[in-house]
Amino acid sequence: MSHVFPRHSKSTLLTATGGDGCYLIDSTGRRILDCGDAAVSCLGHSNARVIKAVQDQVAKIAFAHTGFMTSEPAEALADLLIEKAPGDLDRVYFVSGGSEATEAAIKLARQYYLETGQPERRRVIARKQSYHGNTLGALSAGGNAWRRTQFAPLLIEMTHIAPCYEYAEKPEGESAHAYGQRVANELEEEILRLGPETVMAFMAEPVVGATLGAVTAVDGYYKRIREICDQYGVLLILDEVMCGMGRTGHLFACDYDGIAPDILCIAKGLGAGYQPIGAMLCTRHIYDSIAQGSGFFQHGHTYVGHPVATAAALAVVQELTEHDLPTRAGVMGDRLQSALELAFGQHPHIGDIRGRGLFRGLEIVASRETKAPFDPSLGLAGKIKKLALENGLICYPMSGTRDGKNGDHILLAPPFIIEDAQIDELVEKLSKTLKTVI
Ligand code: PLP
Repeated sequence: MSHVFPRHSKSTLLTATGGDGCYLIDSTGRRILDCGDAAVSCLGHSNARVIKAVQDQVAKIAFAHTGFMTSEPAEALADLLIEKAPGDLDRVYFVSGGSEATEAAIKLARQYYLETGQPERRRVIARKQSYHGNTLGALSAGGNAWRRTQFAPLLIEMTHIAPCYEYAEKPEGESAHAYGQRVANELEEEILRLGPETVMAFMAEPVVGATLGAVTAVDGYYKRIREICDQYGVLLILDEVMCGMGRTGHLFACDYDGIAPDILCIAKGLGAGYQPIGAMLCTRHIYDSIAQGSGFFQHGHTYVGHPVATAAALAVVQELTEHDLPTRAGVMGDRLQSALELAFGQHPHIGDIRGRGLFRGLEIVASRETKAPFDPSLGLAGKIKKLALENGLICYPMSGTRDGKNGDHILLAPPFIIEDAQIDELVEKLSKTLKTVI
């Protein structure tokens, strides 16, 4: 009997014993194509450079508390990230994962307004159908009812506007541009409703991952969001925990939209699974407000800036940038989209095939005409996950929430090293799975 406390206690887990490129290997020697694992493995499972970086660093120095010392890999990684980051992002605060990054971002926004003499700014606006992590602050920002309900009495009060979700929510007859501007303007309406002097930040995922399944915003939406934030002095926090680090075909997902946030959160692809690490990047102006004010960011965890984690991430970012892997993710992502359209474009229960780069989603519908989701009690996402694994494929099926009505989708986020033959394998295994379930 296992003494590990698993998340799903009613199912038995395979034991991972190895990894080889895009494949995970279980204890029976079976090779499983990894096209999901929550969009972590951007370099696959056996990247020699990252493995060596971890080995070398652990042999040098594994841990030095950042209250006393910085480390060479943390400094080098921060420099590299800032060299590549958009806009005025100038400082990097390292954490251990995505929830810690968004949690830290919320606290940084609050402290910024305290340091700059606007203590009444304390409200965060986020979006319905979003996910920003599972710690209580991050969960408060998230709009996914399924994740929030049990903990609702413990959550911080935050308000949520509509996401930009063209497939499901744009009325027929409205242009994509007009729709994007209209839903972006919901932010302005919400700021005015709450009182601009009370709002400190707006948080959003540039491409919505876990909750909706690779939903991109229409062109112009984020430009308008940026304008509104600037107009009312509201900090823009972009959560690129899942969609960042090259996954969308750009090193940072917001590069596509041509805007830069005040605070940027990254995680999964940063460590690529080799070490748990996340980061929060902020502008020089925000950093200076603290550096020239109290001089102390009132937030921190023991493993902030861990030398082995930052060494792994440094090697990951070097791999990504030196081999231009984000561009490869864009090219292979287009091929994946074409292959998915060929296989499922006419499927009666696949309503939409979407995404950017190697971040793709399929929306499952009961009817293509009405776009109505299946009854959530059918548990389709769980069935697809289980059967796909039996068929040798890891993907990420989820139940979404369309304002309370669950809609299922499948998120696909393979490593950037995926080859054409593995795209074929992915589509074949997914077809076999879906034939049985829908
Ligand atoms: N933000 C987004 C957009 C995510 O997709 C996730 C995880 O899926 C998180 C935050 C939380 O990250 P973590 O699970 O590393 O805490």
